[in-house]
Formats: sequence, structure tokens, C-alpha cells
Amino acid sequence: MPVSPLLELIARRPVLLDGALGTELMKRGLGHGQSPDIWSVERPDAVRDVHRSYFEAGSDAVATNTFGASVLKLAAAGLGPRCAEINGAAAALALSVRPAGRFVAGDIGPTGKFLKPQGEHTEDEFEASFAVQARALAGAGVDFFLIETMYDLREALCAVRACRAAAEIPVFATMTFNRTKRGFFTLMGDSAAACVAAFEALDVPAFGANCTLTGADLAEAVREMRAHTARPLIAQPNAGQPAIGPGEDLVYSQDLEAFAADVPRLLDAGANLVGGCCGTTPDYIRRAAEILKSRGR
Ligand SMILES: [Zn+2]
Repeated sequence: MPVSPLLELIARRPVLLDGALGTELMKRGLGHGQSPDIWSVERPDAVRDVHRSYFEAGSDAVATNTFGASVLKLAAAGLGPRCAEINGAAAALALSVRPAGRFVAGDIGPTGKFLKPQGEHTEDEFEASFAVQARALAGAGVDFFLIETMYDLREALCAVRACRAAAEIPVFATMTFNRTKRGFFTLMGDSAAACVAAFEALDVPAFGANCTLTGADLAEAVREMRAHTARPLIAQPNAGQPAIGPGEDLVYSQDLEAFAADVPRLLDAGANLVGGCCGTTPDYIRRAAEILKSRGR
């Protein structure tokens, strides 16, 4: 694989990712229960606007509006046959507002289905579903893949293999962990250490954790992963814990400053790439950018 400018950047300084996308689209009119992914085709201006706002806030990289755009996940909304179209459109939107020296991640989220024996799908089926998505993202020119919010290590590895087969660009992956008395585990019972070992075995150049946890807890998960690897680690916490707010919107418990206070913890624990997940906005990312700058970014 040729040397990636992104990997060179990660070796030099902390790298800032973006924050939540779906909630930003809701502010622009996306309805509850509506597929955000189709908005890359139907409301390209709104999607482009969110990407631009994250770049303006200081993100080194933004992720495409394709979290739910694998074939299997789109099929649940009747959009499976439009997988390539939706991913190609989404990548083009993010790339159209990418400033020089910044990056676009082709975002890949979970299928929402389960592998046998818990579910009805095989690893080959998952890999084929991710392959259509990965080929479309890579074909449109994304700089790297970000497989994220994975709750099943086996599924994450299916996605890694699909991305590898699609293009010679870096493949990053983040798992989502719950905190238990025995440490951090995914929904399917994968420990943080097991995830590290599996990603290292597949030579994934950067990996980590996102969603579910607040910054303070995620910093502990990063510390646990750091004990098992020297590779770059990714941390994208939620802005606290969700609650049902007025108008049935989910509101997150951490304001800007509470979220920002956890950013140094993530860096001190060993994170090399930081960003936000649920509940974060361009304002949260702008605040994180100030903190990274004060830490020599
Ligand atoms: Zn999240």
C-alpha cells in the first residue's frame, strides 16, 4: 500500500474527526424514522452543508452520510438496489467541500442484522453487502474507510475484508463498547483486547471505539486498548447520556464544556484521533479543535 498522507498526519499530531451527522440533518428537516442515507440523493444541499460546517469547525476528516448504506441495511428501507448510487452520491458531496490537506472517510456502519447462530446471515452475505458499499465509496474517491459503531467483531472483520478488496486505501474501524465490572465489551461479548488482537492480525492501521460511552468512560476503554497495542487509536464519544427531551427529541446530557473537558482525558489515555458521536455538533468539534491546538496540534 502506498504511504498515506493521513497516516503521516496521524504520526505527527492528534487528528480531529467530525461529530454527529444524523441529528444535523434533522435540524435541516429530516424526519424521525426517515433514512438519512437517501438524503445524499434527495437533499444534497443539506448533506453538503453539514460536511462544510464540520470542516469549518476544524475537522481534519469528515465521514460520508453512509452509516446505514450497506445493501442489507438499505434493504430494510426498500433501498437495497440503490446502494451504489447512494454511496457514490454521498462520497461526491463530502469530497466537493473537502479543503486541501483534509480527508473524507467512507463511513460504514453495521447492517443491523446478526450473523448465525444469533441471526440468519452468513459472513459471506455480510461481506457481499459491505462490498457493494465499499466499491461505490472508493470509486467516488474517498481517502479512507471508517467502519464504525460495530457491536460484533465478526461483522467488523467482514467489513474490513470487503474494504480491503475494494481499494488500496486505509481501513479504520471502531467498535462500540459497554462498560462492565470486568472491562469493556461489545454487545456480542467481544472484549476490547480481543478487538485489538483481531484488528492487528488483519493489519488495520488505526482502530478504536465510538458511541455508547461518554468521554470519561471512553478514555478508560482507550487506556485498555492502549495496553495491548502501539497503533493509532480512535475515540469518538457521545456527548453524555441520552434522555427524552421536549418534542420527543433525544437530548444528551453533556454541554459543550463538559464534552470538551473529556478531550484531554482521551488524548492522555492514548487516543490519536478524536471526534464526537451522538449528541455532538460542529460547535462541540470547534471546541475540541481549540483543545487540540492548545496541545500542540
Ligand atoms: Zn453514537
